[in-house]
Amino acid sequence: MNLPIKAIYLPGGIKVTILDVPTGLKKAATSSELREQCPFCNDPDCYFHCDQSQIDEEIYDYEDGTALSETEEEVVERLAWNAAIDGLEFLISACASKGVDVESKNFHDAVALTLHKIKNCYW
Ligand SMILES: [Zn+2]
Repeated sequence: MNLPIKAIYLPGGIKVTILDVPTGLKKAATSSELREQCPFCNDPDCYFHCDQSQIDEEIYDYEDGTALSETEEEVVERLAWNAAIDGLEFLISACASKGVDVESKNFHDAVALTLHKIKNCYW
């Protein structure tokens, strides 16, 4: 069993959990609230997979200002944003697992800069 031995919070609310594994190697996992969810099923990976996103006719009405659903363009943007966040979190986990000092000011600055650049790409 991998026990959490330390939690580190990075810019964007990314939580890095350092795990104590039996081999003695430090492993890490990340989590955050940064991934955007489908407004119907709350699955960040939903691409018109859930029934509600498929049957709601308003989802295809781009001129209806009352539509609560995502347009196809918005869904694609959400998935691209989520993929970028996944990549950032995978890198942070790998850095923490390989002994990079994820508590250093330089690392925090690098994460903040990367998040800023991702936001400029997808929003
Ligand atoms: Zn959905």
